[in-house]
Amino acid sequence: MPGKKKAQQDLDFTLRRVFGKQSFRPLQREVITAALDREDVFLQAATSFGKSLCFQLPAIVDYGIISPLLALMNNQVASMRAANVKVATINSTTPPSAKNAILEDLQCGHPLTRLLYVTPEFCTLDHFRKILRVIHSQRELSRIAIDEAHCISEWGHDFRPSFKSLSFFKREFPDVPMMCLTATATARVREDIITTLALDPAKLKLFTMTTSRPNLHYEVRFKSDEEDHYSDFLAWLRAAHARRTTNPARADQLAALNQRADNVPGIIYTLFRRDCESLAARLRADGIGAKPYHAGLPHTERADALAGWVENRAGYDVIVATTAFGMGIDKENVRFVVHWQIPKSLEGFYQEAGRAGRDGKAGVCILYYGREDRDRAANMMARDNARREPAFRESVGAGAVVQQAQVMGRAKSLQALVAYCENTAGCRHEAIAKYFGEQAKPPCEWACDWCKDAVGLVRRKEKGLASEEWCSTQREMGTYTVNEYD
Ligand code: ZN
Repeated sequence: MPGKKKAQQDLDFTLRRVFGKQSFRPLQREVITAALDREDVFLQAATSFGKSLCFQLPAIVDYGIISPLLALMNNQVASMRAANVKVATINSTTPPSAKNAILEDLQCGHPLTRLLYVTPEFCTLDHFRKILRVIHSQRELSRIAIDEAHCISEWGHDFRPSFKSLSFFKREFPDVPMMCLTATATARVREDIITTLALDPAKLKLFTMTTSRPNLHYEVRFKSDEEDHYSDFLAWLRAAHARRTTNPARADQLAALNQRADNVPGIIYTLFRRDCESLAARLRADGIGAKPYHAGLPHTERADALAGWVENRAGYDVIVATTAFGMGIDKENVRFVVHWQIPKSLEGFYQEAGRAGRDGKAGVCILYYGREDRDRAANMMARDNARREPAFRESVGAGAVVQQAQVMGRAKSLQALVAYCENTAGCRHEAIAKYFGEQAKPPCEWACDWCKDAVGLVRRKEKGLASEEWCSTQREMGTYTVNEYD
């Protein structure tokens, strides 16, 4: 059909003109076409897939779109603005005057705003819903995109209560298509998302891509409370620096990309705020440009750390952050992601580690695992559950079942991650694929510690971990009850 061909050409043109990219990655065109055909779309794809393009591009081709996107992503907003696309965001940091201007524009009948990013909490407000109804009646509400859709599921690891009321969209605006995007969803989480949003599974266009990231190197390094693993990390980082600076071809390549050869951009995730600052200071004392990032820091300091890091500025090579950092940040040249201790879930680990190597070049994902940390994490989870206990007792029937399931889901995900760390009998890429229910064996060409050197892995584990006997004594003595998460 000539019409269809024209539309495809428009997509290519917009991709080049607005996003400065020469071609689509596999499946992106199909997802975008389905969205423009006004289908409900569910896209599950690895972190490097380029999911945001799938709702950003339709917002430009299909004039007049307003997409409440349910994850706050200032970095995305900034990059869309740099491409001269009129986007807006309403969140807790938006000044009232700016907020009013956005809301006025939305209601005017011919809004200039093409994409609106809002939080799920904002979507529960009556006055915002009223405005959405006005926009809809003016036929200007073209699509609703929900990013990080796994958060919707009560079986997922990152559930937020305000997601529960999102069935509002399909109920009120059955003719407005929805897009759900996520990197991680087991079959059960996927079903739950679909039910929560009141989507019709029979009509839904489902696109699933493998979770495999062959350019990432997964590695578990073993630690114990006995020994500080800082020197191990510093030695690794210095070696990584040396490989870049002593290779003239690589240095030329980096210079052509306007990147410093001595910059190895990375993220270190830690569970504790106090570690962010002390670890960043320690690295700086050793000549590494490191900045802390956590919710307790002043807004200006956080914004500066993020901007410097995204722009590859000197002194901003490594961000030491709590787990909130990185959602929606589109930085392609992250060369490593390190977990300073075991994170709370396998989903969380996969997503955070997945922020490395989005440019398709090699990225290293190191998880420092210690059995004392494992016991601390389990303790913290138990305490968290106990805090919610009164609410459990009050809820009855289905509510209680759901809450029970949430507790089980979190515990299972931590258990799965512990098993991943303790495992010395198989490929890490394969273990991750299995967890997400994939049948096919993912490729791994020496891209994990087991495939690279299984014998050495066993030896390092024996040497590096505290014994189970010792840990069980510590548990009995109640050693691991002092720390608090953020
Ligand atoms: Zn492997």
